[in-house]
Amino acid sequence: MNNYDVIIIGAGSVGVPLALSLSEKKINTLVIDELSSPGQSNNKKAIGGIRATHSDFGKIKVSQRSIEIFSTWQERFGDDIGWLANGYSFPAYCERDEKNLKDLMKLQHQFGLNINWVSPEEYNELVPGINMRGLRGSTFSPEDGSASPLLAINAFYFQSKKFGAEYHFNEKVIAIEQENDRITKVVTEKENYSAGFVVNAAGNQAREIAKMIGLEIPVNPDSHEGAITEPVQRFFGPMVVDMRPSKDSANYYFYQNNEGQVVFCITPAPPIIGKDNDATSIFLPQVAKRMIDLYPRLANLKVRRTWRGQYPMTPDGFPIVGKSQEISNLINAVGMCGQGFMLGPGLGELIAKIILNELDDDDLKALQSFDPYRDFSGMEQFK
Ligand SMILES: Cc1cc2nc3c(=O)[nH]c(=O)nc-3n(C[C@H](O)[C@H](O)[C@H](O)COP(=O)(O)OP(=O)(O)OC[C@H]3O[C@@H](n4cnc5c(N)ncnc54)[C@H](O)[C@@H]3O)c2cc1C
Repeated sequence: MNNYDVIIIGAGSVGVPLALSLSEKKINTLVIDELSSPGQSNNKKAIGGIRATHSDFGKIKVSQRSIEIFSTWQERFGDDIGWLANGYSFPAYCERDEKNLKDLMKLQHQFGLNINWVSPEEYNELVPGINMRGLRGSTFSPEDGSASPLLAINAFYFQSKKFGAEYHFNEKVIAIEQENDRITKVVTEKENYSAGFVVNAAGNQAREIAKMIGLEIPVNPDSHEGAITEPVQRFFGPMVVDMRPSKDSANYYFYQNNEGQVVFCITPAPPIIGKDNDATSIFLPQVAKRMIDLYPRLANLKVRRTWRGQYPMTPDGFPIVGKSQEISNLINAVGMCGQGFMLGPGLGELIAKIILNELDDDDLKALQSFDPYRDFSGMEQFK
């Protein structure tokens, strides 16, 4: 049997940066994925938004670390991953949204987030031509940014291989065997493996993997569509998140990437539960109407491509990350909701610290937000 220090199930937004962090520390790591190369499930569906603008300590801290990793990657390792420090903005068009955002900013400042409030006129300089009717101002967090999920995951993958990580693609995990409270065997269609630790980073399939060892974890994927336009000269700065709900959709968000393409997606309301990946004819007219009303300058852009993927959702919108109490050598790193790409590198380091027993007080505090044994009764504001 092939034995490793750590086996990671899933070479996606979380599994690959985790393999990077582990292999950098000389931990003998195997990543198993049923697809043919890294990031082929939801990682490549992400539009590339990366923010530390969240509402709780854990996600803010982890994302701040992710931002350090994304933003210094080219300097450290030489690959261009499309990093752009374009910032994030949440414009407010009603008193309630303005109050909520400003109240939240007090908490975010306590957690060390660089975020401030800009007037409608200042916002019009960041997003020239934005609809000023009823605009009350916006948050602006200049250190947030964006990167290419395709370039980033491949850069992490090749670097982790240089550090010694091993990957087995086209290999589906079909069973997990246990004795007493330990996993003894990870079984794929081709091989059997054993490891000191097994990490469930299976995204959409997190629940099915947990079931193989008799555990229930509440991860239910729901579908989201995204789109990308032709590239044009840079004409606005930050990611724009319009939080206002509409008849058949909740928020939507868009930004201009480092190549000048506008990338966008929308949150359907009610959610579309399931893993169907067929793009619909509803999405584009639905989101385009809302975007052009908010930002008329987008009207003449040609859309090149649309696609559909999933957010692996939890009931409260927070990820599930931590050691299993039932199985002593299992770690869950699942339920990334709409933020697995931005959380991945920071989480990779945090999970490596769990495995190496190196957690400090801030890490333990961050992990409280992701506690697998919480009651899931809360609700993340920026899920
Ligand atoms: C339209 C859209 C836009 C998004 N935009 C953003 C964004 O801007 N920023 C952001 O941070 N996030 C965004 N997301 C969310 C992000 O894509 C997900 O949160 C993230 O990819 C989940 O990461 P993961 O590692 O949990 O899962 P994945 O990246 O899907 O990886 C899981 C891997 O596990 C493998 N696997 C599963 N079961 C098995 C098995 N039995 N055996 C072997 N391998 C298995 C799969 O093949 C897959 O490769 C977006 C998502 C969508 C759909």
